[in-house]
Amino acid sequence: MSTTEVENYPGFPEGVTGPELMERMRQQALRWGAELYEEDVVSVDFSKRPFEIKSEDRTMRANAIILATGATAKRLRIPSEEKFWSKGISACAICDGASPAFAQKELAVVGGGDSACEEAIYLTKYASKVHLLVRGEEMRASKAMRDRVLDSSDVIVHYNTSVEDAAGNAQGFLESLKLVNTKTNKSIPEPLKVAGMFYGIGHTPNTKFLDSQLGTDEDGFIIVSDHDKTSTSVEGVFSAGDVHDKEWRQAITAAGSGCQAAISTERYLQMNKLLKEVKMMDTKDAKEEIEAAKKKEAEAPKKKTHEPAIDADNFDIDRQKHQGQYALRKLYHESPRPLVVMYTSPTCGPCKRLKPMLSAVLDEYEKSIHYVEIDIAKDPEIAESAGIMGTPCVQVFKDKARVAVINGVKMKSEYRKIFSEQLIESSAA
Ligand code: NDP
Repeated sequence: MSTTEVENYPGFPEGVTGPELMERMRQQALRWGAELYEEDVVSVDFSKRPFEIKSEDRTMRANAIILATGATAKRLRIPSEEKFWSKGISACAICDGASPAFAQKELAVVGGGDSACEEAIYLTKYASKVHLLVRGEEMRASKAMRDRVLDSSDVIVHYNTSVEDAAGNAQGFLESLKLVNTKTNKSIPEPLKVAGMFYGIGHTPNTKFLDSQLGTDEDGFIIVSDHDKTSTSVEGVFSAGDVHDKEWRQAITAAGSGCQAAISTERYLQMNKLLKEVKMMDTKDAKEEIEAAKKKEAEAPKKKTHEPAIDADNFDIDRQKHQGQYALRKLYHESPRPLVVMYTSPTCGPCKRLKPMLSAVLDEYEKSIHYVEIDIAKDPEIAESAGIMGTPCVQVFKDKARVAVINGVKMKSEYRKIFSEQLIESSAA
């Protein structure tokens, strides 16, 4: 979930952050016996029964499947997009907006829907001014969202405006946008000076890995049956949330859709005599889990403000995983091993997804690689000097030289490949 503040989820009168909501759901699923594997599915085979699901680490078989892979933000594909990607251009204001490079700078958001409005409002926390670039005569966002944008003195709306291309500064970071008036189709002579451009132009469903084995519409959204809104064209395969829902796309509607899919799946398994009872955690264990979760929650705010800083007293070079700038400086200068640095921000949903995945990969290199996590909100000067313009960002250093940068969340194999290459080079040297 890339949303920061979820204000409309029932039961959270003060609102809840997307990552926190995800974590609570995760704990709840675990408590009721779910086994979670945090890895990417690379292929599925719906022609076999049970169905086959492959990740890089395992092949699993299942009598029924619920697809809840969501949708990914679309890009504009302007000519210099790749050049400035993660160097000013981003598709996730929520993940990247807190970057020090954007602090008190003018920023642009493209789009006129609810996502773009939400991003523009969010970015006013950091930017000196936000330009909302709407290609049409008006915004298609809901009235409430439109009003928030129009009422904000920090957001300037440019109607009938689209982006033709971008230009950068001497350091290779985004500096200005070349705009077009969509009514006259003529370039606007004055470039718009911005340090960041964020896309809010809709989403593409994450269905590519299905390899056309399911019915989808022309945009790739899974087609679900009218009667239960979760059954797909393959019996036993169900769909939940944004991977089929183009319209509602709220955390609560996706959760409701997940519940519908789970009930449909249970009915399907029962009808086909495939339902197997899994032993749930017994009451005593469940109670202990609830108590442990409650205790953890009660301690969480204290932990946030009083987290012990890593300093000369508690730094231990023999440990593989560290946090914060003290550890980074020590390891950068003293570690003989390749050093992996992950930059995160507190509101970044993809960071939450990457952390356990990267941690599992790093476990395979326990004695040969050092790791430090830098929270860019806590250590903004470090993030700035490392040129971080988005999170998560993983940088790999060897002999004080930066040898790799991986932006966003990639497959485990990509991290393994880079780490192993560094180790092979180390041993060959
Ligand atoms: P939408 O499809 O609603 O809006 C996309 C916007 O991007 C439109 O204004 C569209 O312009 C513009 N756009 C598309 N392609 C381009 C392009 N190539 N160049 C310039 N502009 C472009 O997507 P959203 O992600 O905003 O919303 C999807 C759904 O999710 C909606 O139902 C929305 O209500 C919901 N949502 C709700 C939120 C909330 O309530 N908090 C937050 C986010 C989403 P045009 O209008 O001209 O087609």
